[in-house]
Amino acid sequence: MKQYFKDIIESVWTVLLGMKITFKHLFTRACTLQYPDQRWTLPERSRMRLFNKIEDCIGCGQCVRACPVDCIYMTTEKRIKEEAPVFAADGTPIKLRVTQFDIDMSLCCYCNLCTYPCPTHCLLMTPEYEFAVYNKQDFLYRFAKDKPLAPPKPVPHAPQPATR
Ligand code: SF4
Ligand code: SF4
Repeated sequence: MKQYFKDIIESVWTVLLGMKITFKHLFTRACTLQYPDQRWTLPERSRMRLFNKIEDCIGCGQCVRACPVDCIYMTTEKRIKEEAPVFAADGTPIKLRVTQFDIDMSLCCYCNLCTYPCPTHCLLMTPEYEFAVYNKQDFLYRFAKDKPLAPPKPVPHAPQPATR
């Protein structure tokens, strides 16, 4: 009988001990974030999704060379002399046409090394971190807008005079 009451007391004590922690939290400031209605303010210089303002890209390839995981794919071609000169926002002449500028964000390790050497500051880390996708292929971001010039048409042979 003595043991019976001892067990009851012990059970009540154990519950109260557990509830002590619960009650303590009733009077502390809630730290639960009601995501997505609320969001943390990201620390300054957070490294999130990459963006290329392709209009200012001069096709120098410095970002490609800096990338440690080779996840930037770029193709360029020379602008022909007859084309009107194009300049980046900072006045740098754009001599190359960037026909491909892809970043595979599924490979990117967010090291930010590609943005530092960019001479026109067109490649940057945005504060955007909500870019999950269902299909891994959708992580390949394509920024280029220019199309490669059509290959020159073969010049038709001039009609040859008939030989006698
Ligand atoms: S952040 Fe790093 S890994 Fe990602 S593209 Fe830039 S250099 Fe490559
Ligand atoms: S470093 Fe900047 S300007 Fe050069 S290819 Fe990369 S994004 Fe374009």
